[in-house]
Amino acid sequence: MSPNPSVAIVGGGLAGLSTALALGSIGYPVTVYEARPFLGGRATSYSVNTAEENVTIDNCQHVLLRCCVNLIDFYQRLEVIERIDFWREFYWIEPGGRVSIMKRGRFRAPFHLAESFAKLRFLAAADKLSIARGLLAARKEYGKRIDLERITMLDWLREKKQTARAIARFWRQVLVSAINEDLDRMAAVHGLQVFALGFLPKVDSYEMGVPAVPLGELYSEKAWARYVCVKLAPRTPIERLRVENGRIEGLESKGELRKANAYVLAVPFERIPALAPELGLDFSSFAHSPITGIHLWFDRQVTKLPHATLLDRTIQWMFNKDEGRYLQVVVSASRSLLEMPKSEVVDLALKELKEFFPIVADAKLERSHVVKEMRATFSAAPGLEEKRPRTATDFPNVFLAGDWTRSGWPATMEGAVRSGYLAAEAVAKSFGNPQRFLV
Ligand SMILES: Cc1cc2nc3c(=O)[nH]c(=O)nc-3n(C[C@H](O)[C@H](O)[C@H](O)COP(=O)(O)OP(=O)(O)OC[C@H]3O[C@@H](n4cnc5c(N)ncnc54)[C@H](O)[C@@H]3O)c2cc1C
Repeated sequence: MSPNPSVAIVGGGLAGLSTALALGSIGYPVTVYEARPFLGGRATSYSVNTAEENVTIDNCQHVLLRCCVNLIDFYQRLEVIERIDFWREFYWIEPGGRVSIMKRGRFRAPFHLAESFAKLRFLAAADKLSIARGLLAARKEYGKRIDLERITMLDWLREKKQTARAIARFWRQVLVSAINEDLDRMAAVHGLQVFALGFLPKVDSYEMGVPAVPLGELYSEKAWARYVCVKLAPRTPIERLRVENGRIEGLESKGELRKANAYVLAVPFERIPALAPELGLDFSSFAHSPITGIHLWFDRQVTKLPHATLLDRTIQWMFNKDEGRYLQVVVSASRSLLEMPKSEVVDLALKELKEFFPIVADAKLERSHVVKEMRATFSAAPGLEEKRPRTATDFPNVFLAGDWTRSGWPATMEGAVRSGYLAAEAVAKSFGNPQRFLV
């Protein structure tokens, strides 16, 4: 009996790992070549050495919603889903410390959040009415109106006559973090998708999943042990896909040629031209959008809330990582912080945190760590969608995966896993064995 054809995957982020999991689960021998010593790509954790101690931190806090059904499927298959805490309550804090809570009430979808929404204290009645109208329009137009890919979210909100406060305190607050882009740079289709798939369709689809362990633990060797067909090769950067006379010869790495029957390139888009120029892919329409994560360790508890979204300031989210003494503060689309020295970023975060949690003024900051991810995600700009490549390439045994491919989602963990499952479907089909992995 001839053995199953083999697959080589370049990149051990969520896209590469989900491709490997899908193909490994149906018996194809798969090798994942990852340049770094650890898996997870951008959604990972690593240790930071300080004078005081070694701590493991996430590259940045990563969250998901229950509507991320492919990511949840991936975690379930790796048997790590119980390490994700799902939260039903969203806390919104105004400068001054007033807290409003959004949570599911007694009504059926899409009105399950209506009772708590009506009680939000940071919006006036006119803002709430305009948002309610906007949400109904989003539900009606998403998936039907074709120009949503060409206009910005801000254009759409203005078309829907949203009040200035509704835009600043509701739409902007939710969407800049969800899409990692400003409202005037984000294609409306992505903004509407967040509400059409996350907040409106089912009573639980908005629930926010927050990993209860460092991200790297979600992809541990133990989690992969069941997938005997999958070989993980960290510390193995691939230099080049070797193409000779129009045929793929293999992957060049450390002076060796690594061969397989099919190849999946699951690296960030900016790496593709050097890795495989023969694919002729044009990324001139792609740009990056940054995210800044600010880790702060205090000498005492400064909040009991598990997380909160912070209104009207530079800092946008707070995650309580350890009994209110270790907070991770996140700023998405953080262009304004890129040039700022890290010490000033910490000063700014502290100054603003005091407005939300006055006790911070009495606390001593014991340690801090700032991670500026310049290339956090691609910018989900109008017009980009049609430029995102699909998984198939001009070579019948070379496929693409990654949050930047045309997954149907913006750059998120769900988008990455969707792209991985789509690549796995394409590989299986090329082996004459069509499969369905996408949930
Ligand atoms: C700061 C930050 C915060 C984020 N927050 C969220 C969030 O809250 N929720 C959410 O859903 N998403 C979030 N994202 C986005 C999410 O992390 C990404 O969309 C997703 O992880 C991308 O996965 P990927 O596999 O496509 O790419 P990557 O994770 O970039 O994986 C690519 C892998 O390829 C490897 N590689 C590159 N070149 C080579 C080579 N030549 N040979 C071998 N290996 C190579 C890299 O080392 C990397 O491991 C965030 C991203 C960042 C940066």
